[in-house]
Amino acid sequence: MLAAGRGRRMGGAKHLRPLAGVPLAERVVRALLRTSAARVRLVLAPDDAAGRALATRIGVAALAAEDPDEGRAASVRAAVRAAASDSRGALFALADQPFLEPDDFERLFDAFRAEPGAIVRAEYGGEPGSPVLFPADCFAELLLLRGREGGRSLVERRRERVRLVSLPPEHGRDLDAPEDWPAESAPLPSAAHMERTFSIVKPDAVRGRKLGAILEAIEASGLTIVATKMVQLDQPKAEGFYAVHKERPFFKDLVKFMTSGPVLVSVLEGDDAVARYRKLMGATDPAKADAGTLRKRFATNIEQNAVHGSDSPDNAQTEIAYFFSATELVKR
Ligand code: ATP
Ligand code: MG
Repeated sequence: MLAAGRGRRMGGAKHLRPLAGVPLAERVVRALLRTSAARVRLVLAPDDAAGRALATRIGVAALAAEDPDEGRAASVRAAVRAAASDSRGALFALADQPFLEPDDFERLFDAFRAEPGAIVRAEYGGEPGSPVLFPADCFAELLLLRGREGGRSLVERRRERVRLVSLPPEHGRDLDAPEDWPAESAPLPSAAHMERTFSIVKPDAVRGRKLGAILEAIEASGLTIVATKMVQLDQPKAEGFYAVHKERPFFKDLVKFMTSGPVLVSVLEGDDAVARYRKLMGATDPAKADAGTLRKRFATNIEQNAVHGSDSPDNAQTEIAYFFSATELVKR
């Protein structure tokens, strides 16, 4: 999500300007977090402390544009440099298109999955526009962009690879100048604060037949289950999942435990789902967990602690993609 512009025509950075109470950048990031994208990154000007605070608050990683005064190319390069080596492509969304819905982005991802070599571009009423999704084999060329040009020159050079996806024109509206700004009363899509998190009911709790009680507590908390399945982790899958802990002394035991029997992996949705599910789970160590939490009720010890929940929306996105394909998540 590119939000490093100086917003000259707006008389100040517009990505932080609220629309019905929610900053533009937050609206777009939250929409992206509800798609099947494996990672969402917010590209900001290097001196944008308020933007970084926003990224921290909503739980996505921020990247600094290489030169904020150069124009869009510096942001595109920062995003491409930060892309994972296994990334199949990158979609460049803009902070000033706050009306795009998760489904709109998903349609671009679907078109890309149907034809992985394609450059996928949104189109509104026959006019090509943003966002644009570039496959990884365009990354080297994106790194050569300079100045105010976004990917446009590349799109023109590779015209034969471009696939247009028609989206509702009212969703694609961009807010460029003060006169584009809708009246204060503009409605806020109810999904603006909707978040997803990833849950595992660990082997101890599955073995102990606590599945029903845990799912019941999840539903009673108001979180909605939008995907779930029972899986048996093998060693590489468990090691990959807990890769951040690979230097920790408990890593080997943790992997052994996580592969010791089937687990239930689920995707939960709701306002502030990440924080709410962490609260429902309780502290990592059940001895320190509050009364009524899942770990207080069902965990055995700090390792065999019944449940996992993502610790940020950013990690939730990665963890969901590690276990689920886009088509396995339902709308409720
Ligand atoms: P999770 O990531 O599983 O939701 P968490 O975020 O509360 O739990 P982390 O610090 O990420 O805790 O640790 C991951 C998992 O590793 C813990 O849930 C637990 O199973 C295990 N673990 C953490 N600390 C220890 C420890 N000191 N000894 C043994 N196992 C541990
Ligand atoms: Mg953790």
